[in-house]
Amino acid sequence: MSLDFDTHFEPAYGQAVPIAEGIARLTVNNPSPYTFHGTNSYIIGKDTLAVIDPGPEDDAHLDALIRTIAGRPVSHIFISHTHRDHSPLAARLKALTGAVTVAEGPHRSARPLLIGEGARLDASGDTGFVPDLTVADGQVVEGDGWRMGTVLTPGHAANHAAFSLEGTGILFSADHVMAWSTSIVAPPDGAMSDYMASLDRLVERDDYVYLPGHGGPVVSPQKFVRGLKAHRKMRERAILERIIAGDRTIPEIVGAIYRDIDPKLHAAAGLSVFAHIEDLVGRGRIVSDEAPSLGGHYSPA
Ligand SMILES: [Zn+2]
Repeated sequence: MSLDFDTHFEPAYGQAVPIAEGIARLTVNNPSPYTFHGTNSYIIGKDTLAVIDPGPEDDAHLDALIRTIAGRPVSHIFISHTHRDHSPLAARLKALTGAVTVAEGPHRSARPLLIGEGARLDASGDTGFVPDLTVADGQVVEGDGWRMGTVLTPGHAANHAAFSLEGTGILFSADHVMAWSTSIVAPPDGAMSDYMASLDRLVERDDYVYLPGHGGPVVSPQKFVRGLKAHRKMRERAILERIIAGDRTIPEIVGAIYRDIDPKLHAAAGLSVFAHIEDLVGRGRIVSDEAPSLGGHYSPA
């Protein structure tokens, strides 16, 4: 199964890019190794609008959103998940428009925290956000000329939701599935078991195209998601093989599997290995002397 990433993307900061009838994309000028060219906000509708993921605290982006909205009413602000590059601007946009904020729930970790993990969770989480309307899986929110379905997709974040624009085949996949890169699954914020189950959910759907939270559209999405699953399974096998071969700690495994990457990326790689290890312990494939942690010792079951 090949996994072809598409890294062509023209962010056009400050300008609304028409994507389909009644859908415009506005990209925040917050490029980074984790956000690619920046966070995508989407503006839905013609007369009364919805906004998906207003983005981080960013004055220029708020101005661009207001210019694009052009005086039209905004009824809803959908939040895919509460990472700081997606949700914080919802507060100011709501204050300016009176829109109802919609999300799965406030920020939370995928599992109870171990000592010291709270600080890491706070670094990326927008813990101040509380949605006006919490949505369950399958729940549909109706607007003016559009209906938005909820597809809960935890994994990258515990409260991650994708939104489907009913009747169009378009799924706003946020950070769960993106064309340019795999998504970050890092405990305690995220969980690999959730992420894999959420990929399975998308394979079962028949969406035509995904519009992600970073980068361009995902075309042939089911094929791409099957490729993502195969990629993670391959990584999981490599980790399991290292543990069977005698590696006991995450740094040992990272040193062996990520031999060729920049050492600056080893911390991120360690979190990714940790996510797989948590999942493998949960499934009884490996054992740990205590609750799985970055500093834990692991051996074959
Ligand atoms: Zn993001």
